[in-house]
Amino acid sequence: MTATPRTTTPVYQGIPERRPLHPPYPLALGPEAVELTGPVFGPAEVAEDEADLTNRHPGQPLGERITVSGRVTDRQGCPVRGQLVELWQANAAGRYTHRQDGHQAPLDPNFTGTGRCLTDDQGRYRFTTIRPGAYPLPGQTAWRPAHLHFSLFGSAFTQRLVTQMYFPGDPLLAYDSIWNTIPDARARQALVAAYAPELGEPDRSLGYRWDVVLDGPAATWTEGSR
Ligand code: FE
Repeated sequence: MTATPRTTTPVYQGIPERRPLHPPYPLALGPEAVELTGPVFGPAEVAEDEADLTNRHPGQPLGERITVSGRVTDRQGCPVRGQLVELWQANAAGRYTHRQDGHQAPLDPNFTGTGRCLTDDQGRYRFTTIRPGAYPLPGQTAWRPAHLHFSLFGSAFTQRLVTQMYFPGDPLLAYDSIWNTIPDARARQALVAAYAPELGEPDRSLGYRWDVVLDGPAATWTEGSR
């Protein structure tokens, strides 16, 4: 089988539409430059209502409504703008909408447990959701504390961060085998949100603040190595 030529040529008489009309673009970015750039997202990719996990179904999900918000910054404390923040979590009973979740707790037909948003010009993100329930580790009596899973894209691929946010005062935290794998006490505490009533919505949700630093010495702990 003959490969399609990289440029148009009178020698090749194949399907004309498959022939590029222009020579290949020279690769302007070296590998290092590629590492220093990241994916670009915009309103076309992420709808505003995707940040509200309680409105994804006709009915209201069970559980305590919460608003989680914070700033995403780089090592200099500068806001990381327009970047994708993704959130996934268990429902109020501690069950994920996932076929591999074998926990006996019930599914909630009005809660899927995924959301996403873009950071604003100050690097802020904001989600409305429900507080997830704790769940047992398979085959054990140990239960995971309530937590939200987060993925953040920075402005460079080296800033990509996947981690978990916890709730203040959770008695299960001290026993959590995953939280306790983080050797540095400061890094562990940085994953615990602060109760922030001013971030809540009146008559609707409790507010929590959780800030994220994408790189540098004070970087938020991330799953896996950088
Ligand atoms: Fe989890």
